[in-house]
Amino acid sequence: MIWGAVFPRYCVSCGTEGALLCVLCAADTSLDGPPFAYANPKIRKLICAWKYDGDEDGLRCLIGLIRPRAASWKSVIEAKSIQAVVPIPLSSWKERMRGFNQAKDGARAIGELLHIPSIDLLERKHRWFAQANTSHELRKKSFAKNPFTLRSGIDVPKRIVIFDDVVTTGATMNAAEEVLRDAGVEEIVRMSIARG
Ligand SMILES: [Zn+2]
Repeated sequence: MIWGAVFPRYCVSCGTEGALLCVLCAADTSLDGPPFAYANPKIRKLICAWKYDGDEDGLRCLIGLIRPRAASWKSVIEAKSIQAVVPIPLSSWKERMRGFNQAKDGARAIGELLHIPSIDLLERKHRWFAQANTSHELRKKSFAKNPFTLRSGIDVPKRIVIFDDVVTTGATMNAAEEVLRDAGVEEIVRMSIARG
């Protein structure tokens, strides 16, 4: 949906009508990152617009903030010969409720920026579907251990970026990384738009 055509847009930072982030606020020289501080209201509001309101302009503005600051990311991609970016998936029920796949969209946008493909390698297990032939207790333990599994039938690159929109403790990234290492991935670089 082209939101601007339906609703007037106001800058999340200064309130000026016209865009979700106005040109002046986008040219913020004090902004440190990526990853940016989630505590920064501008960053938080853009992420929330994208993540919770499904507003694609939120992601577009965030990528716009990352683009001129992506030199360190680009040099890591080059130095480590990274082949692809892998999104940390949301659970499917969350995706269904929201009606869009934010993790995939984010990884695709980061991939385009870094000139590498995004590959949907991971799947988030369901608490109630995983390993249907085992007992409830075992299922609970297995889910607590690692909520991710590898999607079948996809060639696994050796050198990848794992991408999540916001990273706080890093526990989610650790779990994803464990599954990918087990699948033979040798080099993993972590990237996120924001840190909590
Ligand atoms: Zn503004």
